[in-house]
Order: sequence, then C-alpha cells, then structure tokens
Amino acid sequence: MDGIVIIGAGECGTRAAFALREAGYSGAVTLVGAEPHLPYERPPLSKPMNGAVEMKLICAKEALEAAAINYLQGSSASKLDADAGTVTLSDGRVLSYEKLLLATGARPRRLACPGAERALEFRTHAQAEAIFARVGAAQAVAIIGGGLIGMEVASVLREKDVDVSVIEAAQKPLGRAVPQRFADRLHARHVAEGVHFHLDRGVVAIDNDGVILADGSTVPADLVVSAIGVLPEIDLAEAAGLATGDGILTDTFLRTSAPEIFAAGDCAAVAQPGGGHARFESWRNARTQAGTAARNMAGAAEVFNAIPWFWSDQYDLGLQVVGLPQPWHQSVVRSIGDGELEFYLDDGRLVAAAGLGIGNSVAKDIKLSEMLIAAGVRPGSEALADPDMNLKALLKSTRAA
Ligand code: NAP
Repeated sequence: MDGIVIIGAGECGTRAAFALREAGYSGAVTLVGAEPHLPYERPPLSKPMNGAVEMKLICAKEALEAAAINYLQGSSASKLDADAGTVTLSDGRVLSYEKLLLATGARPRRLACPGAERALEFRTHAQAEAIFARVGAAQAVAIIGGGLIGMEVASVLREKDVDVSVIEAAQKPLGRAVPQRFADRLHARHVAEGVHFHLDRGVVAIDNDGVILADGSTVPADLVVSAIGVLPEIDLAEAAGLATGDGILTDTFLRTSAPEIFAAGDCAAVAQPGGGHARFESWRNARTQAGTAARNMAGAAEVFNAIPWFWSDQYDLGLQVVGLPQPWHQSVVRSIGDGELEFYLDDGRLVAAAGLGIGNSVAKDIKLSEMLIAAGVRPGSEALADPDMNLKALLKSTRAA
C-alpha cells in the first residue's frame, strides 16, 4: 500500500497533505500535481504587482520534505481503478492507495465559436503571465465574461491604461456570486473607470480584428481573454464509475460513492443538510474542505459545515461575502465610513452578510458577521442597520445568553 494519495496539488490538495500530518497521520503521503511548479496560490494571479504576476508558493520544497510529503511535480493521473485501489499516472507509473483524495479542481469553460482558440484563458500562472505580459497602455483587450475573473482582470488592466471591453451574456455583470447591490456598485465603478460593457450579448466569432457579437457589431481587440466560468474536473472519477453530477458527489464527510475515495475543493459537490449537493468555487472552500477531508481520511468523522466566504479586490475596493445571500432574504443595509454592509435574514435569522469598502475596511465586520451567523442569532433589523450597534457586543451578548 502507498498510504494516502492526493490527486491535484492546488490549494485543496496541498493543504490536505499537510493537514494529514497535523491530524497525526504517519503513513506515506503522495501529492500528484500536473503543473511544472511547486504548489502555488491562485488569488495573486489576478493582482500583478508592477506588471509581474507573483508566484506565491503554498509551501517551500523544504516544507514538503520536512512533512515527508512525496510531491510528484508535473504528473497527472490518467486512470483510476477504484476496485483495485490504484491510480495510473501519465508517465505510466501505477500508485496503489489505502485512501485517495480527488482534489482535481476545475478547468475553464471553453468558448464554442469560430476563432475561439484565439482567446486566452485565465487559470494558471503561465496563462496569467501570458495575458499581463502581452498588453500595455493604449492596447485594446476584450474580456468575454463579466464574472469575478473578468472584472478583476479588467480593473488591473484599466490601472495600466489598457482599453478594456467586457462582453457578458447576462444583463448585468457579476450576477452569479455577488449580491445585486454590490454587483451594481462594482459595475458603476468599472464604467466610471472607462470600461466598455457589452451586456446581454452573445459572441459569434473571434477574428483578427476582435470579437464579433450576435448583433453584428465588432468589439475591437488586440487580445481576447475568455473568462466564462469553470467546469469541475470530474473525468477521472466519472470514468472510474464514481457518482458524479455537477462535480464528484460526496456525502457530508466528503466521501465519494467509493468508500476509500474522498473529494474536496472545486471538483466536489457535497451533500447538503436540506437535500441535494452543492459545489463552491473559492479559495477558502478549498482550504476548509482540505482540512475536513484530511482529518476524515485519518480516521475522524467530521461533517463539513463551514460557512462559505470569498473576497474580491477591484481597483481600491474590497468586497467580502460570507454565507449565501439569496434574492428572497430580507436585506438590511448599514453604512460604515467609506463603505456599506448588507445583512441577509431568513425568517429573522442572520444567514449571510456582504460588504464593500476601500481596501480591507469591511474585513472585521464580515468576520464578526460570520461568527454571528455561526451562533444562529436573530437580531432585530433596526439594530443591524444602526452603525452604532456594535457587532462585537452583539456577539458577546449572544454568547452570554
Ligand atoms: P464566473 O464568476 O462564473 O463568471 C463567468 C461569467 O461569464 C458569468 O457572468 C457568465 O454569465 C458569463 N458567460 C458565460 N458564458 C458566456 C459567453 N459565451 N459570453 C459572455 N459571457 C459568458 O467565472 P470566472 O469569472 O471565469 O471565474 C472562474 C472561477 O474562478 C469561478 O469559480 C470564480 O468564482 C473563481 N474566482 C474567484 C475569485 C474570487 O473569489 N475573488 C476570483 C477569480 C476567480 P452567466 O452567469 O449568464 O452564464
């Protein structure tokens, strides 16, 4: 037996390898990563400093060695045999495992139109570098997709005085993950910064001149970026006969339909208490699921129930969202200095919060909101809206009660 094998050396797989050691697991740990680098963080990719894309390592080579993690760099898994308990790697090596973690992540959705191969995708360090190194002031970039990647990349390019157009299929940008109030504010800021939006528009082709839209117009571009979302990497699991849907299906312990195989991070669709499965594509989710999966592989029986959280930096604005705001929630808005918080109540109970302000200014309030959500508070909406009502005091009184 080869102990525990982890497929995927992104945030989730790498954190899981270390979490196994922190959980006291002393068997062999093998981490298989397809990229030709040590494991690195993805959030800095959309925030280049002075034009250079940072390669922020999750861990140094020495840290992997010290934790006795056998890191197979530049290797990918091509076949999984769940009955035999083996994984075949691209170079033909076969690893047997006692337990396996699938942390295979997600891959960019591909445009399907003539000339789609001209568009650059944004997922890896090499792809981010290819985009930021190739554009300079006065050049024109068309970004297809007004989601988190599209809008973050747009803000960085505008700061470099690049002419930026965003083409979005929906009527508004950021509609998927960002609450409407803050999606509207970020959209307005991009417009004020000079980004040209082409909303509610389909893309029919990409050619030498730029992007041709369904209405016959052309968005001129020297470079085209495609950021139209991601698809979970489920091919390995699906071919092995594991249960899949919008992701590799797991129970609340992050165990797949095969007893010795776990899945976590962008690729995992986790059973929810109210029924169904949910998949979250965020850095925090990858980290927290890594910990739960590792502890469970090491023998614990921990239910995954972390509250979702993500952030996004665009220009000098910082957005944070905790929980899953829904259109049917009661919304309560609070002004705070240079920004705003929005709380979301479901039948009187605080279930989510979001904030937008300069830099990191909403971070403390969102952290406190997360603790209030976890405590199951039912605050009055007047108190929540009142900037003088201290969230820390509310948390303290809730805990005392
Ligand atoms: P995304 O946030 O899902 O946004 C993709 C956008 O592209 C959606 O608004 C989508 O509209 C639109 N779209 C889809 N097909 C299109 C088409 N053919 N033409 C024009 N627009 C189209 O995905 P992403 O921005 O590519 O980001 C990829 C992943 O990285 C996501 O999981 C994201 O959460 C994650 N990420 C997170 C952060 C962060 O947490 N700060 C930062 C960067 C990336 P519809 O919704 O109408 O399909």
